[in-house]
Amino acid sequence: MRIGVIAIQGNVSEHVEALERAISQRGEDAQIITIKHKGLVPTCDALVLPGGESTTLGRLLLREGIADEIRAMHTAGMPIMGTCAGLILLAKEGDEQVRKTHQHLLGLMDTQVNRNAFGRQRESFETELDLAFLDAPYNAVFIRAPAITRAGNDVKVLGAIDNMIVAAEQGSLFALAFHPELTSDSRVHQYFLDKVFSNGM
Ligand code: GLN
Repeated sequence: MRIGVIAIQGNVSEHVEALERAISQRGEDAQIITIKHKGLVPTCDALVLPGGESTTLGRLLLREGIADEIRAMHTAGMPIMGTCAGLILLAKEGDEQVRKTHQHLLGLMDTQVNRNAFGRQRESFETELDLAFLDAPYNAVFIRAPAITRAGNDVKVLGAIDNMIVAAEQGSLFALAFHPELTSDSRVHQYFLDKVFSNGM
């Protein structure tokens, strides 16, 4: 089992550590690799798109030829977890700012996103969030967080704050507006790993 973390920018080492911790808790074996260049995504069984700056990430993924590899592996059924900027990149549609700037999105998930849904007043905050796949709330850390503002019929909403969707899945895609890699609670990574280890890609 090989899990890739896109390492162009953003919370990379935190994700690597969180994955390693979660994998050892399960008593399973997996190799975690960081990805900066073309050629590695096709060698992976699962992928993490971390937080960061979605415009920069999107541009570099395209320029490095990684974006097309991700699309192809998605079609082949590879589980992908996108957190924060990763949730934005997974989306089919952005907000007006995304459209105006022709920002590059991977466009895999039938969602529309608002890049900075919580505005300046709430740049970063933590909250006890109810998630559909957990039986007790999760302390979720939000940093200049986006939200899903429209979800297609195939998208399952897993968590929301007011009417802003902050956790969702669609088949092998798993998107979170917060940063599960910044807390020691592994339950969100475990949920993703359940998908990864049960996936017969
Ligand atoms: N809102 C940021 C963006 O548009 C994402 C913030 C984050 O990943 N912490 O890229």
